[in-house]
Amino acid sequence: MSEHVFEIAPSGRSKCRSCGLAIEKDALRFGERMPNPFGEGNMTHWHHPLCAAHRRPEPMLEALQAGLYEGDDLPALEHAAQHGLAHRRLPRLGALEKSPSGRARCRHCRELIEKDAWRLPLVFFEEGAYNAGGFIHATCAAEYCETSEIVDTVACFTPDLPRQEVAGHLGL
Ligand SMILES: [Zn+2]
Ligand SMILES: [Zn+2]
Repeated sequence: MSEHVFEIAPSGRSKCRSCGLAIEKDALRFGERMPNPFGEGNMTHWHHPLCAAHRRPEPMLEALQAGLYEGDDLPALEHAAQHGLAHRRLPRLGALEKSPSGRARCRHCRELIEKDAWRLPLVFFEEGAYNAGGFIHATCAAEYCETSEIVDTVACFTPDLPRQEVAGHLGL
């Protein structure tokens, strides 16, 4: 039985664990319920639904399969979550950014990422926490994820850039 939840945000104070941005009051939010690693009982991580489909495909699919959601974008959520489940590295991708220095090494090709080159931070979800796990070249992301269908995920976490520009930086 899934304990996850969809609900209308009662205030604008919760932040999306996937993208880091605020969840607006009265917007729909997805709550991932999990055991509290720091103590007793359960805790809830809130997300924008589409962000969660990309970042947390497993709990999202559990919730959808339990019939907790009936909105018009249900097929989109389901598709994103299925795709993330099929390509285990895809949910690690963060927001596109320009490398502020030339010191980080790409976790895929092992080459240095040049200053001002486009890169993607990797985010690992482990034991109830999100941990930063280095960077990859934007142009290495498709190979790293073993699929070229990665634009939707990166665009979801990079809302300031037009989708076409995101695709261009990813070399797709
Ligand atoms: Zn979000
Ligand atoms: Zn690389």
